[in-house]
Amino acid sequence: MKLTMPHLGNTYLAAKALFDGMGIDFIVPEFSNREALEIGSKYAPDEICLPFKIMFGNIIQGYKAGADTAIITGSCGPCRYGEYCELFKNTLKKAGCNINLIVVDQPKDIGIKELLRRIGKISEASNKSRNEQIRALFNAYKVIKLIDYIEGTARYLAGYEVEKGQFKKLLQNCKKDAGKCDDPIKMIEVLEKHKRNLKHIKIDKDKDPIRIAIIGEIYTILEPFANLYIEDKLMDYGISVKKGITPSWWIKDAALVPLKANSISIRRASKEYLPLYVGGHARECIGETVLAEKNNMDGVIQIFPLGCMPEIVAKAILPQISKDKNFPIMSLVVDEMTGEAGYATRIEAFIDLLERRKEKCII
Ligand code: SF4
Repeated sequence: MKLTMPHLGNTYLAAKALFDGMGIDFIVPEFSNREALEIGSKYAPDEICLPFKIMFGNIIQGYKAGADTAIITGSCGPCRYGEYCELFKNTLKKAGCNINLIVVDQPKDIGIKELLRRIGKISEASNKSRNEQIRALFNAYKVIKLIDYIEGTARYLAGYEVEKGQFKKLLQNCKKDAGKCDDPIKMIEVLEKHKRNLKHIKIDKDKDPIRIAIIGEIYTILEPFANLYIEDKLMDYGISVKKGITPSWWIKDAALVPLKANSISIRRASKEYLPLYVGGHARECIGETVLAEKNNMDGVIQIFPLGCMPEIVAKAILPQISKDKNFPIMSLVVDEMTGEAGYATRIEAFIDLLERRKEKCII
């Protein structure tokens, strides 16, 4: 078995650690790029959302690199994500791609027995003992927690760095070094080294940078190609960025759902404006916005793909929060036609607005 899976931010590092630890060949597809999007746009139905198109392109590129099986996640949720699994099967057939699909669905949708059967297919391909496989799983979790911590800290502290570009460089080197490791223990050591190095970068605590929270549809905020590398751009502008939704958050949230103990603070914060789940991460989007204002962030940027139903609901609620709390919020919609120049101009205009508000407060 040669596995691959579509990109979702840093999850490829955890997947690599997991499958290397299990002794299963894992092919990391090329990082999401124009070609992947073009492949997706060519075969996928026009009305399907951007994440499907890029993920489809990733799978095809992984297949061309030698993978015979792809892992995808599924859901029966109310938005288009519920159609992804069937659509992947049909569209791959249409593209002449003869790859097996393993769909990892939530147990509440397919039952624990069926989930274990699907995971069992992967486990059977491993020559490692049960204990070694469980260790591989724990190491993968360690990897995702570490990289999320390093990325979150670097992006936030970028606004305070004395020498511009240091945190960005550290983050790039960290991902590059971790990606080269074929041994999960080595990968953890590399990540821990970079985590320690975060402390060696000089920061000026007296600085008062603009602080922005990124919220929105989970795929577009996690996959840098889908959001036109917004976090890198903000780092270049010297902005401190916070993002509550990360892969490690997602794992913790999914694990706590059966106990109804997931994301309690976000749920509480969203209660006044959106007390129900409407699919996707719309409720988290609202909760995160309310929390961002409470935590003295200067503004919020919502990012979502064109036609994303849950985020359209959230977008309709955000102006009310903005008005009630006198809090700046900007929504950015992305699709395959989004132009880099217009996108950057909107971000710059928003930063300008935040800077002027801040200056007024100081005067
Ligand atoms: S949340 Fe939005 S972008 Fe994601 S699958 Fe659902 S409709 Fe598509």
